[in-house]
Amino acid sequence: MASTSCPKCNARVEFEVGTKFTKCSYCSSQIFIDRSGAGFFYIIPFSVQEKDAVGLFRRWAAGPTKAKDLDKRAQLSGIKRQYFPVYQFKRDVDGKEEIRIEPAGSTTLPGLHSLKVPAGDLKIFESGYGTEGVELVKPDIEMSSYLNEMPGRPKEQALVYFPIWKVDYILDQKRYEVVVDASSGEVFAGTYPGRGSAAYVAVAGVGYVAFLAETLVTAINPVLAIILMGITLAGVFGASLFVAWRM
Ligand SMILES: [Zn+2]
Repeated sequence: MASTSCPKCNARVEFEVGTKFTKCSYCSSQIFIDRSGAGFFYIIPFSVQEKDAVGLFRRWAAGPTKAKDLDKRAQLSGIKRQYFPVYQFKRDVDGKEEIRIEPAGSTTLPGLHSLKVPAGDLKIFESGYGTEGVELVKPDIEMSSYLNEMPGRPKEQALVYFPIWKVDYILDQKRYEVVVDASSGEVFAGTYPGRGSAAYVAVAGVGYVAFLAETLVTAINPVLAIILMGITLAGVFGASLFVAWRM
């Protein structure tokens, strides 16, 4: 057995070595235990319901960078809610409080590296808090693995269960997924069917005009023209990569 003090009521809490979650026997707060000590264990309630999540997805899909009529043509193939674990680090940086959020679970889902924890919605996760059968994703990244890159001094460390909707959809026989932040309603997407060809044409057009101008420069200053052409080439290459990656 090992022991620590409850971050809420400061009572002494004993736990098996290797346990990550335990309960304070005085105030019944759920406590998250990490090699660096005990921390609060928070949960954020779902404020976006399933119907609203689908509506947010449709609105996102109707955006100007998406494939034409994606909002109408995308076939929903699955929608699922989850509590995704993130670490919240409160730090004292030169007398100012800074909050950093890092994922506590390994994931390939988009957006989970840039979640913002809404201060008002944090609930201390007490036993008896109803998760209504929603899956709690288990943290598999150690809190300590982030501590080296944290600025300032520690004020509070916590594990926060973040509510998300995972929406899967199909367009032209390809599967895609988005994450809807069920606290703020923000939509996160990795790759999605976009209006890529228009962007490629724009990049090629700008490159072509630049080359034409540089050809004129050749007559005046050939060395400068070659340097400019090199810059244009690198720019077109970089912009194409960006388009391929983002669009
Ligand atoms: Zn307690």
